[in-house]
Amino acid sequence: MAKKGKLKCPKCGSTDVKRDLSNPIWGIGIATPYKCQDCGYRSFFFPKYYKEEKEE
Ligand SMILES: [Zn+2]
Repeated sequence: MAKKGKLKCPKCGSTDVKRDLSNPIWGIGIATPYKCQDCGYRSFFFPKYYKEEKEE
């Protein structure tokens, strides 16, 4: 089974990363950048974060 991964911001470490659809050209099937909701960091690539420890 595949592990569930979350996108993690490399800048602030937040996992509150969502697709940035603020520019309509990104919504037509071309690569859509992701944006960190915490610090505003935007990139096409965010490292995936796999939770391996218990949530506390
Ligand atoms: Zn961030």
